[in-house]
Amino acid sequence: MDPQGPHAAVAFAVTQRALDVPPSVLPAHSSLFLDFDGTLVDLIDRPDAVQVTDRVRALVTALCARLEGRLAIVTGREASFVRERLALEGLGIAGSHGQEIHFPDGSTSIPEAPAAIAEAGEVLARHAAAHGGILVERKPLGVALHYRMAPHLEGWSLALAHDLAAAHGLQLQPGKMMVELRAPGGDKGGAVARFLETPPFAGTEPVMLGDDLTDEPGFAAAAAHGGWGVLVGPLRKTEARYRLEGVQHVLAWLEGTLRA
Ligand SMILES: [Mg+2]
Repeated sequence: MDPQGPHAAVAFAVTQRALDVPPSVLPAHSSLFLDFDGTLVDLIDRPDAVQVTDRVRALVTALCARLEGRLAIVTGREASFVRERLALEGLGIAGSHGQEIHFPDGSTSIPEAPAAIAEAGEVLARHAAAHGGILVERKPLGVALHYRMAPHLEGWSLALAHDLAAAHGLQLQPGKMMVELRAPGGDKGGAVARFLETPPFAGTEPVMLGDDLTDEPGFAAAAAHGGWGVLVGPLRKTEARYRLEGVQHVLAWLEGTLRA
């Protein structure tokens, strides 16, 4: 007898169903919400060293024009990092997992960082200095520990982050080969919903693309507002309706929607 019960195999089959590639034409009055790392740019060992290619910059610029500003980047990174690299007026950006919002009209909504972020960051930096290959990334509303260059330290990193989160009242946010301590509250779904309350996003059919678990609330928010999500990367249990294989497939698909 299957220890998980007779329905486990059925549930597995349902959650692992193949997902189609998204339609080649965006809905008539759509808005687009794009994750950054792992969606528009490949994941790399040193997140600060990420390069935004001319192709990506041109694509984002063209999409923003085609959608008449109904385009936002929704990222776990701090918003200013993406703003500097894409350097595009009128682009919406939600940073720090939806906690910092930069609206297309230039207005912003940015909460104050709790002191616990800096305190936890100091402790992480001290521990990281004693272990080669661990990077500490400080953000306005969080601090991340990257162990992509030292995967054997995953258990150690997660345990340390868990203890610090509990001690400082911070939220633990696991990612791909990284774990982040961040101010409690907010997620990408909340960010998508915030944009959809305001022009030019209000009343549109939202489409959200992302690769990470943190994108799932974004997919759910898009679906709740009559749109859909696109999972980027390997199939998993997801709120997304469609799937694309990786960054190059995302870029090709987005370019295709511009030709449609
Ligand atoms: Mg991502």
